[in-house]
Amino acid sequence: MKLSNFIDGHYIAPINDQYIQNINPATNELISLIPNSSPEDIQLAVNAANKASKSWSNYTGEDRFIILNKIAELIEANIDELALAETNDTGKPLKLSKTIDIPRAASNFRFFATSALQFSSESHSSGPNIINYTLRQAIGIVGCISPWNLPLYLFTWKIAPALASGNCVIAKPSELSPTTAFLLGKICNEAGLPPGVLNIVHGDGIQAGTAIVSHPSIKAISFTGGTNTGKKIASVAAPMFKKLSLELGGKNPCIVFADCDYDKTLSEVSRLAFTNQGQICLCGSRILIEKPIYEKFKNDLVQKVKQLHIGDPLESQTQIGALISKSHQEKVLSYVELAKQEGGIILIGGEKYTGHGRCQDGAFVSPTIIENLKPNCRTNQEEIFGPVISLMSFETIDEAIELANNSNYGLAASVWSQDIQKCMRLTKEINTGIVWINCWLVRDLRTPFGGMKDSGVGREGGDEAMRFFTEAKNVCIKW
Ligand code: NDP
Repeated sequence: MKLSNFIDGHYIAPINDQYIQNINPATNELISLIPNSSPEDIQLAVNAANKASKSWSNYTGEDRFIILNKIAELIEANIDELALAETNDTGKPLKLSKTIDIPRAASNFRFFATSALQFSSESHSSGPNIINYTLRQAIGIVGCISPWNLPLYLFTWKIAPALASGNCVIAKPSELSPTTAFLLGKICNEAGLPPGVLNIVHGDGIQAGTAIVSHPSIKAISFTGGTNTGKKIASVAAPMFKKLSLELGGKNPCIVFADCDYDKTLSEVSRLAFTNQGQICLCGSRILIEKPIYEKFKNDLVQKVKQLHIGDPLESQTQIGALISKSHQEKVLSYVELAKQEGGIILIGGEKYTGHGRCQDGAFVSPTIIENLKPNCRTNQEEIFGPVISLMSFETIDEAIELANNSNYGLAASVWSQDIQKCMRLTKEINTGIVWINCWLVRDLRTPFGGMKDSGVGREGGDEAMRFFTEAKNVCIKW
């Protein structure tokens, strides 16, 4: 199957006729060919967006609500097809695609459909005969670039607020996970989204991504991906004075105190470490455990992880599927080798897992737990983005905070303790954009989402996203 770009409401082949292979990482089989779009394709998309822009920005909030809400309904109606496509592209368990990825894509559209109705702006009374009010107007054409780990989930997390606030969008999914984005075009047409309002172009980052970031008519870039890619994007977009939202990597601490709710914490730590094969930017990878329970917690965690079912993503009992690609598998395993050189002890996992039947040549890595690594070593500092965690112990709250903050990243942290005083202190002193107390991945789409330090710039979610995708214009009236 050859996928095509979705431009001006039509599926069209790339102008240069260049294609990239899309491989199922669980089976190593070719799924499809996808366009490697060139600057000429991006220009076509920009032309279509230009044509649609004025009319779309003049739609009422209610009109936009109706269409975006319809898209949410159609995503739900097509959940089986979308979930299977997501799993085949990424190797993630089908159960996960069905219960998390695709439902969340629908929720993103439903949530921002209501934002189209409710988004409001400020007004300041500045004296007896002066009033200021702020118009928040659509930017025009915006670019949305997303990664492969939660494909439709993150693609729609950007597109939905961009559309809700009246922009036309040029969006690129990762070349490794293109299919659900491809299917979204059909859904948008069916929902009545006018042609040219959303244009989906496929291709690699270097060619298609750069063409989006550097196009002068695309005035804002919302990007989720790796920190190094974020730097490159900023170096192109910042001198052009584009608005930039960068959601980047993480090396998230998970802090377990001796007074935690033990059994619940044990289950949740296993989940926060290994869900989606550890390929969620919010997954914990540095597990800090208070000394009195370190040995017991470590042994119980190893036992728990032993029970995780790894294998064919299509089988209902599978909890751990394949990684995104063979090259990512190699990268993750190279970090295990590095950990050994750095003095790490592998408690479980640390090797390729060979699947059965159709999955014999899949990109699997067994869930891996390492201990005995120094806080500053590369394994504890660099993002691995796979099913690999490092355990460290601490003795005091101060030490826990120091270890948690000992990272260039600052995306998310989780704290496990029943002592409210301790938890409240940590919420203030940990330098991450998100802190979960006695929970993980509990999401309310109204809350600000994003990281500090090398984890990014700006926040997504709720009104933060609506503000990012609009220009504020202050109007001052004196009478
Ligand atoms: P990448 O940075 O490699 O790619 C992300 C997207 O950017 C892809 O669509 C990619 O295209 C594209 N891209 C690559 N180079 C450029 C470029 N020079 N200009 C424009 N676009 C480009 O990240 P991954 O896809 O490997 O995703 C994993 C990373 O994403 C991890 O670091 C993870 O932490 C981070 N992430 C962050 C989240 C957050 O909210 N903070 C959430 C989820 C993931 P292509 O792949 O097709 O080449």
